[in-house]
Amino acid sequence: MCGIIGYVGTGVGKDGDDAASDGGTIDGVGAIVHKGLRNLEYRGYDSAGVALVGESSGLTVAKRSGEVDGLTVPDVPDATHGVGHTRWSTHGPPTDANAHPHTDCAGDVAVVHNGIVENYEELKAELSDHEFTSDTDTEVIPHLIEEELAGASDEDGEGGDLLAAVRNVEDRLVGSYAICAVREGDDRIVVARRGSPLVLGRGEDAAFVASDVTAFLEHTRDVTYLEDGDVAALEAGDVSIFHHGEPVERAVETVSWEADAAEKGGYEHYMRKEIHEQPSSLRQTLAGRLDVDAGDVDLDVSFPPGFLADLEEIRIVACGTSYYAGRYAAQLFEELAGVRATVEIASEYEFGAGRTPDRTLVVAVTQSGETADTLGAVRRANAAGARTFAVTNTLGSTVTREVDGTAFIRAGPEIGVAATKTFASQVATLAMLAVAVGRDRGALGAADARSVLDDLRGLPGAVQQVLDEEAQVREAAREYQDSEAFFFVGRALGVPVALEGALKLKEISYDHAEGFAAGELKHGPLALVTPETPVLAVLTDGARANETMNNVTEAQTRGAPALGCVSEGEEFGTLDVSFEVPDVGVVEPIVANVYLQLFAYHVANEKGRSIDKPRNLAKSVTVE
Ligand code: GLU
Repeated sequence: MCGIIGYVGTGVGKDGDDAASDGGTIDGVGAIVHKGLRNLEYRGYDSAGVALVGESSGLTVAKRSGEVDGLTVPDVPDATHGVGHTRWSTHGPPTDANAHPHTDCAGDVAVVHNGIVENYEELKAELSDHEFTSDTDTEVIPHLIEEELAGASDEDGEGGDLLAAVRNVEDRLVGSYAICAVREGDDRIVVARRGSPLVLGRGEDAAFVASDVTAFLEHTRDVTYLEDGDVAALEAGDVSIFHHGEPVERAVETVSWEADAAEKGGYEHYMRKEIHEQPSSLRQTLAGRLDVDAGDVDLDVSFPPGFLADLEEIRIVACGTSYYAGRYAAQLFEELAGVRATVEIASEYEFGAGRTPDRTLVVAVTQSGETADTLGAVRRANAAGARTFAVTNTLGSTVTREVDGTAFIRAGPEIGVAATKTFASQVATLAMLAVAVGRDRGALGAADARSVLDDLRGLPGAVQQVLDEEAQVREAAREYQDSEAFFFVGRALGVPVALEGALKLKEISYDHAEGFAAGELKHGPLALVTPETPVLAVLTDGARANETMNNVTEAQTRGAPALGCVSEGEEFGTLDVSFEVPDVGVVEPIVANVYLQLFAYHVANEKGRSIDKPRNLAKSVTVE
């Protein structure tokens, strides 16, 4: 997930009016693109770059790793159009060379891209006579355009056409993308969209394109949302859109949000936006990694020969929400990979006696890759001689440099302090890792693997169905928000979700919330249960629903209201509130968790809490 901006026009007055109506205080193309990038920086901050095109100056590219403010946009007085990018790395670390825009060999074409070109290795192999300067998947695109232009130029003798070239290249890309391309000597920005957002801004003498409207809202509120498969050419004041090569009309809508709301995509809080992003962030997590037919996954990770076969133990180290993702994963490793798996709170982790370092895999789960407690655990594991592995959201982060291998969860930047979409993507990534290890060890047959992968494939759609039920959750949150305390229970894969559900609620509502293994209620916590303490239960596949319901009934007998996340087609008639979870087998508890996220959000929102920045908490905890 990154931020893209493109602008074609004569510049605008610094107060936002059209240049023509303003006596000389004009922001040029470079300044407009730079400001657009600042507005989009929440979408990624690994690097920033621009490409500006002027009639006599040609194509000028400037890019560097780091935040947008660190980028010096070159002064190109004759620039007529330009594109910019703020990167959230998926392929290749956040270096200067990997920053967008990427160019072709001749330096005539520049491209910015949001998404993942899944078949980039294949395409790169076909482009073996081209000179590549980055590790990104994106760089194949300008080189493919170069090929197209050269081929067409042989035919028409006129140097080919950028729009036709982008259309043809688009047919060859597998994956998700929003692309903007510019070319020296061409006064258009050509854009294409499939699976990543792209919106056009319409001005009288100008046109904009961006990943979201925030980028250009100060200049125009008239927008056109592109659809998947659309390719468009932007000229000053004119936009042509094509679908499957045919010209199409797309509606022009007027945005009524204020800039601050737009930054959050119209949501009041980043947390709610990120909860709602889960179908697309999960799609990105899974993209190109599932081979359901073969019953295998491609996570692009490798281990020394024989290491997995001889593995004695997987030890997961993590903190907070990542720790609960680890607790989920440990059960999957035992079940799918046939290997003992334990989870340790990173700050408590020591390698410990009685273990064999060279037969132990220590898996560090950290969203930021910078969590000090988790880095400390990795260092202790490395010192003991264990093999270490990271599951993280952040390319180039410290943890990736200290472990023997990494799998990226590709959830996109998470701004809300309370982790939501990264939990789902962590579990999905760890589930794929469990399948990979299980297949390698011969512990998991192809048919069983196919069934898990099929469940994973259904996860984004199932999460969307839950999000569509948000009104029901909001109603429940309103009804129970004034409770004295909240208890969350589950069994098996429902336990980590109960723990995570309670953590989410306490983090953002400041209410007392506790998660328990449901069977433990009667061993102590039941003493706390009253009619003022609702019990929220995970009653899905993978969470031993019937046994859990027995414990819920014990709480109900003491007067507690009971809310349950229940598998589709099942019914527990005594529940006060029942949330339906679509049928996705072993990942159903992850879908149930989305109800718990929404419940926490709405309780906190009803109470007017500072949801994105809860008191006393910070994201990416870099102190021990
Ligand atoms: N996959 C591309 C990269 O890693 C684009 C990532 C993005 O959307 O920012 O450079």
